[in-house]
Amino acid sequence: MVMATLEVECPVCSEVLELTEDDRQELQVGDVIVCDSCNAEMEVTRNGGGEDFELELLGVLTTCPNCGEEFEVTEDLVASAPTVRGADGVEVSIVPCPHCKAQIELEFVTEPSGAV
Ligand SMILES: [Zn+2]
Ligand SMILES: [Zn+2]
Repeated sequence: MVMATLEVECPVCSEVLELTEDDRQELQVGDVIVCDSCNAEMEVTRNGGGEDFELELLGVLTTCPNCGEEFEVTEDLVASAPTVRGADGVEVSIVPCPHCKAQIELEFVTEPSGAV
């Protein structure tokens, strides 16, 4: 058996998360991994050997710039959120803070579907 490090790309910020063989042995389906870079939460949905590993994006923990409370932005929330395109062409989603109801602009890197 070769000790392999699996590289998983964060679906939100594209940061590469490295999972060693040891890490993966401790992970079970249903466990949650948090991206160091953007705080996205991903649930392990498959963890077999080798390349047999899958994650499902749960949400991203965001700190509200208005009230300072953390809240989780899920894919569903983003899907139902209105988007606006800024002057520089970057699309941002407007999600409401559950604490203070402020409208928070979130920038997501949406990759063209089907491309990896
Ligand atoms: Zn990330
Ligand atoms: Zn808030």
